[in-house]
Formats: sequence, C-alpha cells, structure tokens
Amino acid sequence: MKSLITTLCLLVVSAGVASGQTQVEPDTALRMLHAQQQQFEKGVVRVADNVYTAVGFHGANTSMIVGTDGVIIVDTLFGPTSAAKAAEAFRQYSDKPVKAIIYTHSHGDHIGGASAFVGDEKPDVYGTETFGSAEGVNKAVDPVKAKRNVRQFGRKLSPSEITNRGVAPAGTEDSDRGKGFLPPTVTVPSSGLKTTIAGVDIEFHIGPGETDDAMFIWLPKEKVLLVGDNFYSSFPNLYAIRGTAYRDVLNWSESVGKMAALKPHAVVPGHTMPIQGQEAATTALKDYSEAIRSVYDQTVRGINAGKGPDQLAHEVKLPEHLKDKPYLIEFYGTVPHAVRAIYSGLLGWYDGNPTTLSPMEPKLKARKIAQLAGGTQKLTERMNAALAEQDYQWALELSDHLKWLSDGDSKLARKVKIQALRGLAASEYNAPNRNYYLSYANELESGELSDLWF
Ligand SMILES: [Zn+2]
Repeated sequence: MKSLITTLCLLVVSAGVASGQTQVEPDTALRMLHAQQQQFEKGVVRVADNVYTAVGFHGANTSMIVGTDGVIIVDTLFGPTSAAKAAEAFRQYSDKPVKAIIYTHSHGDHIGGASAFVGDEKPDVYGTETFGSAEGVNKAVDPVKAKRNVRQFGRKLSPSEITNRGVAPAGTEDSDRGKGFLPPTVTVPSSGLKTTIAGVDIEFHIGPGETDDAMFIWLPKEKVLLVGDNFYSSFPNLYAIRGTAYRDVLNWSESVGKMAALKPHAVVPGHTMPIQGQEAATTALKDYSEAIRSVYDQTVRGINAGKGPDQLAHEVKLPEHLKDKPYLIEFYGTVPHAVRAIYSGLLGWYDGNPTTLSPMEPKLKARKIAQLAGGTQKLTERMNAALAEQDYQWALELSDHLKWLSDGDSKLARKVKIQALRGLAASEYNAPNRNYYLSYANELESGELSDLWF
C-alpha cells in the first residue's frame, strides 16, 4: 500500500512538473539560464572586416558599419548612458563621423540612445514608413501594461531572484529611457531601398514580424544581415505576456524566410550574439522561419478541427528536428503562448464551445467546486496537499477558488498562491514566466495587490 501511495505521489509530482513545457528540475533551469547569459556577455564582436556589434551594453545590440568617410550605426540602445559606452567601445575601431543611423524597428531598446553616437555631424536617420506603430493602439490599458512589463522583465526582483530576461541581461540602466532619440529623417518606402552610404552598399528590406514597422539591413558586399528583433537566440516572442496586440506570426515567418534566401555569411540579431559562417547563419534563419510557420500551421489545423486554445496550447510542439536547436529553446517566447496568441489573433477570445459562451462568474463557480470537493474545508485540504506534492499549478487553481469563498481562509489561499508561484518559478527556464511568477509572488506578499489579486 505504502509503495502504491509513493508511486501515486511521484506521478502527481511529475504531472505537476509537466504542466508547463518550460518546467524542468530547478538545478537544470538555473543551469540553462546561466548558460544563456553568454548570449549577452558585454563586448564588441567583429562580424566582418568593417562591421562591429556591441553586445550586452544594454538589453539590445547596436552595430557599427565602417565606410570610407564615415560610419553607419544600426540601432542605438535604450538611452544615451549605455549608448555612450557602446559608442566609446566602437571608437577603438573607427573614429570617423556618423553618416547615418538606422532603426530596425521602433521598440524603445533600439532607438533611445541615438544622440550618444553623434558629435557635431547631422546624420540621416532611417526608419520605415510605419515607424512608431510597434505597439498598436492600446494606450487605454497602459496602466496595467506597465505593471505587467515590470513583472515580465523582473524589474523589481531581489538580487537572489534575478536571472536574466531571456534574450537580454537583467538590471539594465533604464532611467534615461528614450532621452537620446533622434526622429527619422529618411523614410524607407514599402518597396525597400538600395543605396550607398559612406561608400558602403546597403539594402533596406521591409520585414514585418515582432513589429509591423520592422526592416532588415543587407550588406551585399560583406554578406552581413542585420535583422533587428525578428531573430535572436531563443524561440521568438510571438506574444509578450506584458500584453501586446497580435503580432502577425505569418508575416514574421515569411520575413525570416526572405532573410534566409540571402544566404548571409553573418546574421546580427537585435539581441544575443551574432551567428557567423554562411552555413550556420543560413540554417539558423531557415529553421527559425520553419519553426514559426510550423507552430502557426499546427494551430490553424487544430482550430479547423474544432480544438480550443487550452487544448492546442498543450498539443502543439516544435517539430522533432528543430526542438533542440540552441536558437529555438524557449528562453524568451514559448510555443504555448504563441498558440494562444495565434488563436485569439485569428478568431478573438471565443473558443467556439457553447459552454464558454457565458461561463459562470468566478464566485459562483468557486462555491460549486467547493461543494463538489465536499465543502470548503475539503477544498482547503486538497489545496494544501497539492502544494505539498509540488503540484503547483493545481495548488494555484484551487487557491483561486478558495479566495472567493466567504467561509474560506483567504489569508491561507494567498499564502499558498505565493508558495506555489515560487515553486513554479524555481523550475522555470522561460525567463518571462519565471520573472512573472516571482514578481507576482512578491507583490502578493507585500500586500501591494488588492483582494481581487489584480
Ligand atoms: Zn529589442
């Protein structure tokens, strides 16, 4: 009997651990996140004889292309403080004046430090026609997005809780956000642009993906491709849990496919280390495009077979030949989040099942669940047992029911939720998930969140 109970407990534990695809043993999760750190270790990488990329000076990368009578800067970090340090590091390789600044897209971590690269010169500043449309039109929910942003990036975590942000280091200098932004002066048309700047032949290709206003930069002579945030060393963030409008997943896959067709000798991502060598760079882009497309196609097939997002989030997987590629490990984006984003992006919130057309309000459902469990006391015992068995997701779900019950111990429910979140975080190698679990636990503990737990 005892051994049967032990076996059952083990099964429950493994069921709990398996509830997320990015849950592994705690030691493994930490080891993976520490290893990923090498992807944004501070330094300047020589990508070609005349192309340098500064990695790890802030969250994103900035690059310098050296021409005959000047340099071109591609992306400019978040603010002038970190950008000035990158500019200084670049000056070891060239002190020629800046002839042009290029923004691959308008996310803050790529545009805010431009002024730090420029002296008295007046460089042309390139952006796409749609520059600035990165975040959609959801300003109305900025207050909650700000809170979720803090959680996703772990901005308020303690030193012992901090790991990284998946494709960026934690703890960046952010107080001067956007202070060095120089607005675009040259608009790249939707058909793209081929030109020569400071003697460097350069092509601008429109490439919507993480944002609608994205483009990638091709140096045909050097065969270097600078791709912004449509590629980095992690499964892509097809959806950001800080809250974003739908990112057009199909466009993203197509844009990366176009990049692969150029067969670059080096690919410079917006975050993480450049990939060098034609075979490695081209394969990485092809795989990336295929991975995105596969998740999209599997989701669409599932949708058309009548499946809902909860089921599909557990069923859709990366193809076997791609799942262990280092640049597709889910450090930043995750497949389940992508599946849910594609579902709601294509069909909206309703999953097609009439049961969910008008679900019960949470308080009523909690009462019925408690009744089913044999009363509030039994529900509470089950919640405690789930926590003890490290079935953390179930403990969370039961604590969310208990908090609504007038005869329930809401303080205990809150305590269990905090512990379960920390339990999930410990096993999590997806940085946004891990940061979110830990941040939320801290907010619950400090009493920052209202009784509705926000
Ligand atoms: Zn970025």
